[in-house]
Amino acid sequence: MKSKDVVWHKTAITRKDRNQLHGHRSLILWFTGLSGAGKSTLANALEARLHEESCATIVLDGDNVRHGLCGDLSFSADDRVENIRRIGEMAKLFIDAGIIAITAFISPFRSDRRRVRELVANDEFIEIYCRCSLETCENRDVKGIYKKARRGEIKDFTGISSPYEEPELAEIIVDTDKHNVEECVNHIVARLESFGTFHKTLPEGSAQQG
Ligand code: ADP
Repeated sequence: MKSKDVVWHKTAITRKDRNQLHGHRSLILWFTGLSGAGKSTLANALEARLHEESCATIVLDGDNVRHGLCGDLSFSADDRVENIRRIGEMAKLFIDAGIIAITAFISPFRSDRRRVRELVANDEFIEIYCRCSLETCENRDVKGIYKKARRGEIKDFTGISSPYEEPELAEIIVDTDKHNVEECVNHIVARLESFGTFHKTLPEGSAQQG
């Protein structure tokens, strides 16, 4: 619970100043999809591409966050909600810092993704759906966890014993079982360009607060 005595402190340097320094807008690029769908792979490949273009970026990855900030959380329904809430708040801080925050979390529930979307301005949350059949993800089984889940050794496993709710309005969709990594990154960058992400001068009326 937030105390009523906690007052927001305005900073002298605003997000607009930081965006101008970096030469691009800051936003959240939220990858969602089944385990093994390619979120981490694409988040990292995209970051490498944006880094080459001198963009300020950070990748927030599910497994890494669960080592630290969210190390106390399980995969129960309540803890998954709290996990995404904390990540959303953290990503929002990066937006304020003028950084493109790229997140790679299964984030299976629409309500959780919507809550993060609602934390920031309309055009600052870009949902990227890594669309891939369960069959392909299971065949890839990057971390051997699908086998464990099928044996019943992992509780609440998305796609097997817990649902994955497909995005209804993702800004970007990549079919990772039909296109290779480079093609998917090209598609994402082209879509971002069309949203004006890399404009040096920020579009008039774009949501900018301190
Ligand atoms: P996630 O983060 O969604 O759990 P990973 O990125 O860890 O998934 O694993 C995805 C696997 O699929 C990797 O082994 C990657 O090389 C492979 N892969 C094949 N095609 C693609 C693609 N188009 N995009 C992303 N990953 C792909």
